[in-house]
Amino acid sequence: MARYTGPVCRLCRTEQKKLFLKGDRCKSDKCPINKKRPAPGKDPKGRIGKRSDYGMQLREKQKLKRIYGMQEKQFAIFFDRALRMPGVTGENLFMLLERRLDNVVYRLRFAVSRTQARQIVLHGHVMVNGKVVNIPSYLVKPNEVIEIKEASKGLTVIKDALKEFGKAGVMPWLHLDPDAMKGTFLAIPRRSDITDLADIKEQMVVELYSK
Ligand code: SF4
Repeated sequence: MARYTGPVCRLCRTEQKKLFLKGDRCKSDKCPINKKRPAPGKDPKGRIGKRSDYGMQLREKQKLKRIYGMQEKQFAIFFDRALRMPGVTGENLFMLLERRLDNVVYRLRFAVSRTQARQIVLHGHVMVNGKVVNIPSYLVKPNEVIEIKEASKGLTVIKDALKEFGKAGVMPWLHLDPDAMKGTFLAIPRRSDITDLADIKEQMVVELYSK
């Protein structure tokens, strides 16, 4: 399936949840979710009210997939890998998603959204342990060092994004030196650490793929 290229706020309106796909706008009053804009479609309230178990599981999967900016096939591959790992599949899935390089770049505040982080990685601005890695789905390992390439440190888009660090810091499994534009992935987070996505019901995603 092709990558979605329509208005991204529509995706949040469909889920009636902020998916934080547009950077600064998501925290502003311009966000359609803040304005309580309804879900797109002719009778959105009616459709939401009549959702089956399958419908709810599907929506939960779509939310998670869209938050991490993944396509269907790639998401299914991640799920399959989570299924084969020891432990709880839903928690494993989160661990894998959080290890994606584009996600780590976003979490380190080098980008204002995961979409922007993906572009920064694809364009070769990011190094892992001193080597350029331009694969957004690269899985970062504990203690790997992620930094902006020297020649890219002047990029306004990255410098502007880093200003967010002063306001919000980084998640506890990361360490960031904002002046050096360098961070460390200290450890793989546990599900309970991922507090900003606490409302995602990953068990529903597991049930969907188990059908
Ligand atoms: Fe979603 Fe951000 Fe658009 Fe709000 S502004 S609807 S959070 S993408």
